[in-house]
Amino acid sequence: MQISDKFHDECGVVAIFAHPEAEKLAYLGLHALQHRGQESAGIVTSDGLTSRVHKAMGLVADIFTEDVLSKIRGTLAIGHTRYSTAGDSALLNAQPILVQSNKGSIGVAHNGNLVNAAEVRGQLERQGSIFQTNSDTEVIVHLIALSREHTLPEAIADALRRVEGAFSLVVMSPDRIIAARDPRGFRPLAMGRIPALAGQNRDTIVFASETCAFDLIGATYERDVKPGELIVVGPEGISSRFYSTAAPQSSCIFEHVYFSRPDSVVFGRAVQTSREELGRQLAREAPVEADLVVPVPDSGVTAAVGYAAESGIPFRFGLIRNHYVGRTFIEPSQSVRDFGVKLKLNPVQSLLEGKRVVLIDDSIVRGTTSRKIVRMIRSAGAKEVHMRISCPPTISPCYYGVDTPSKNQLIAANKSIEEIREYIRVDSLAYLSLEGLKKACGDGEKTSYCSACYTGKYPTNIVDVEDIQAAPTRA
Ligand code: SF4
Repeated sequence: MQISDKFHDECGVVAIFAHPEAEKLAYLGLHALQHRGQESAGIVTSDGLTSRVHKAMGLVADIFTEDVLSKIRGTLAIGHTRYSTAGDSALLNAQPILVQSNKGSIGVAHNGNLVNAAEVRGQLERQGSIFQTNSDTEVIVHLIALSREHTLPEAIADALRRVEGAFSLVVMSPDRIIAARDPRGFRPLAMGRIPALAGQNRDTIVFASETCAFDLIGATYERDVKPGELIVVGPEGISSRFYSTAAPQSSCIFEHVYFSRPDSVVFGRAVQTSREELGRQLAREAPVEADLVVPVPDSGVTAAVGYAAESGIPFRFGLIRNHYVGRTFIEPSQSVRDFGVKLKLNPVQSLLEGKRVVLIDDSIVRGTTSRKIVRMIRSAGAKEVHMRISCPPTISPCYYGVDTPSKNQLIAANKSIEEIREYIRVDSLAYLSLEGLKKACGDGEKTSYCSACYTGKYPTNIVDVEDIQAAPTRA
């Protein structure tokens, strides 16, 4: 069960080249990336000749049993864990997509969202293409198949030049892995290496959305796939090329605020460093007299550590999270107030009673959950509740692979900070400034970030805009 008042994660991808148990490494990698999508998962493998696929709805650990993995053994593998951002959540849209084409067997796994998918899809359909899913990834697959280029890497490059938006992509042919990122580098994609096993004549090369996947499979992080870069790993070794002219980098700053795990290195920077600095910066910008700093678990924990360290106010786990909550729960017929949030979070009365609390979270999306959490903390006896948010107000939807509600559902797009304070019933409310956010995440050092959900200034044209109210301006 998700706390509903949150942005939802996008997707995670992993790829393994040259390992006798590639399917198992892909499975473990997906397990480490489970936080990036919990609706469906899949793995495509190859033994050098034949490609096999297994995908299903649900969590990685439930989908892939020993028996399932034994049926998809291979030395190459790509995997995907999905939260639907484009296309509905049916199994049909689960990834990787595996197709037989004039370029041979191709498996594709994609993290991101194309902003011109509907336009390109319409053109392809008019030319006779028949689509089997409503996911934008299939648009890329059709473009690869239709490309006049003769080699798969060139056909992929050709296809990627025709789409716009966010894509971190891993593609598998029977004997190659190809990894690519969009020219603005919206979503992360890292490359790592596992030294050759005894009797093996080459190192294993791996790709993953986040480096926490490398830690679990014993791989060492080497570098990121660069924006606009296409890397081919095959029998002849590793080659790299840039398929597109450089565009201003727009890596998603929300990866550092919320999505990525704190133990990952994302866009070449440790997420833990950014997230703790967000809290420190917030304490400098929005100090308050209080007795305790309490995070909304788990998302607010690292920023709360930073806020406590900077302010000198003690950090306490005043809200306890139940990690064992399934997707659906039977509610008593005499409905319990705030049932959904109480299933997941419970206040520690002995800590909170009579205290002035600084409550730290990473975002307020609709405001409904924040309001319930505040009510829980007050009912546990807190004397004052001061809410601090470790990023600026979210005023615009994301079109680059993050599931956000439309503009009319984003509380900060429709209410002032004072109105939000009144709605969630806190004594004070402050958000981190945009400058503070960028500083904490090292903007302009190694990475330049997209921050369109805080500014409404989008780094690309948005062609597929359904929500007129959300119609974006270009940065
Ligand atoms: S709009 Fe926001 S969530 Fe989307 S890519 Fe940009 S920073 Fe990330």
